Amino acid sequence: MPLPSWVPIREDLRGFEPYGAPQLPGLIGLNVNENPYAPSEAVADDIAAAVRAAALGLNRYPDREAVELRERLAQYLGHGLSAQNVWAANGSNEVMLQILQAFGGPGRAAVSFAPTYSMYPEYARDTHTRWVTGRRAEDFSVDPQEAVELIKAEQPDVVLLTSPNNPTGTALPLSTVEEVLEVAPGVVVVDEAYAEFRRAGTPTALELLDTHPRLLVTRTMSKAFALAGGRLGYVAADAAIIDALRIVRLPYHLSAVTQAAATAALAHADELLAQVDALREARDELAAWLGERGYAVAESDANFVLFGRFEDRHAVWQGLVDRGVLIRETGPEGWLRVSVGTPEEMNAFYTALMEVDPR
Ligand SMILES: *Cc1c(COP(=O)(O)O)cnc(C)c1O
Repeated sequence: MPLPSWVPIREDLRGFEPYGAPQLPGLIGLNVNENPYAPSEAVADDIAAAVRAAALGLNRYPDREAVELRERLAQYLGHGLSAQNVWAANGSNEVMLQILQAFGGPGRAAVSFAPTYSMYPEYARDTHTRWVTGRRAEDFSVDPQEAVELIKAEQPDVVLLTSPNNPTGTALPLSTVEEVLEVAPGVVVVDEAYAEFRRAGTPTALELLDTHPRLLVTRTMSKAFALAGGRLGYVAADAAIIDALRIVRLPYHLSAVTQAAATAALAHADELLAQVDALREARDELAAWLGERGYAVAESDANFVLFGRFEDRHAVWQGLVDRGVLIRETGPEGWLRVSVGTPEEMNAFYTALMEVDPR
């Protein structure tokens, strides 16, 4: 529904719809890359106890700098990082918005490589940052030579690399990140929302932080950590970059409840991450199954697989919905994305897909 014309919204926002994947309750949800395994009763009890303790102080504003939580996050990341190298917000989406608020803006540009995460252009729009997209290769990799040329030509203030990339699952070699850092005049952000799912031997850009002060690596508790509902994302970078982000954050942006819940969840990192290995195996099985049935399958280091090609992908998506399975109609035309679920959920997907699209 377009806004009525009397609503005096910014002209450049007129005609837009609020963004988001369809939320269809009651279906098997394989559409937003959540961890299908809920926290256990014991973890829930600890989170509840921490939130209760926080509730007794809710008459006061929370710790504006979320120091304890940032310390825990730094410990979790390792790589010699400390609280001053980590910043947290309500999901890594808020972190990304803060990055564009601090480093993008009017007269400034951001570059990314499509197909990639569909939220980035919205944050660029909202912050009046000029949005430039390079293209990924046929196999969804980023050609370092082309990336370097585009960055030299556009001189962007922000480069956004997503690894593993959404919706393709593609991880970037560190050499590509290094080549980009070499020529980028501004900050380089590597969005590692799916890092915990990467295959053995795939490195993390955290390794480059020591030697590259303009590098930012974003992470989230929404995916591997099974805490999408807790809304906690974070970024690791040089302490001076973190200080720049602190300039644009809202005061008390992270509620005491969020800080308490996330800190309690982090104390159970091992348990919350325990299903990651099973999910990686299920991902590889899913990719192999799709390949055997003759689909094109993008190589994935994440907890989802992009597959195709379909002449009418919407019809396939709808056919699956009609059979109770919700996947995502996203990515390049002709492709669909499915998240990795529990074995029961995967079987439901396999059965439904064979019915909808017998091959
Ligand atoms: C899911 C996802 C995120 C995480 O978003 P949150 O706000 O932390 O839930 C970030 N980046 C990409 C590319 C994603 O797919």
